[in-house]
Amino acid sequence: MPSEKAKENKALMAVCAACSKPISTETAVALTGVEDGRRKQFAVCIPCANGGWRPPGFSGVYTVRPA
Ligand SMILES: [Zn+2]
Repeated sequence: MPSEKAKENKALMAVCAACSKPISTETAVALTGVEDGRRKQFAVCIPCANGGWRPPGFSGVYTVRPA
């Protein structure tokens, strides 16, 4: 069972789902959304998340983190 809280993946290296900039765990958060009917974690940089970007189907709670 996946946890409701987004677990931080220490090995995360990705591009932001919103602005396509490269991100790492220090500058990103994982938001759970839905893609093709399945739950998926979207890696988003903190500025985008703080700016209000949410993945499609987002149903969780995001607490703003300091950038
Ligand atoms: Zn971004």
